[in-house]
Amino acid sequence: MAESMRGMRLGSQSLESDRGVELSERQTIDFRCSAGHEFSMVFSLTAELPDTWECKKCDEIATRLEAGKEVDLAVGELSTQRSHYDMVLERRSKKELEALLQEVLVDMRKRRSEGRLTA
Ligand SMILES: [Zn+2]
Repeated sequence: MAESMRGMRLGSQSLESDRGVELSERQTIDFRCSAGHEFSMVFSLTAELPDTWECKKCDEIATRLEAGKEVDLAVGELSTQRSHYDMVLERRSKKELEALLQEVLVDMRKRRSEGRLTA
């Protein structure tokens, strides 16, 4: 059921984009990698432009050039930082949970040894 629905949606999307490609104009976008390689990619004017592209000449990630300058990737870096921060938070909370679990276990053992907890 889900498969057929997805197929139908993909089908209608590709029909639309086929029509769009014929009608839309193209733009040439330049990229430059950290090794200094420059290359161009052709995109439809309506396409969402990627900020980075894998370099054609080496394996570096190339950055999109806008008016000869590399686009600002600060937004992407920010989200990377945020996810790293999330990971740190997650790790810390796990550690706290483990510590809490230890406390509970110790408390349970203590109660059990005192005969107050039979389970
Ligand atoms: Zn390169």
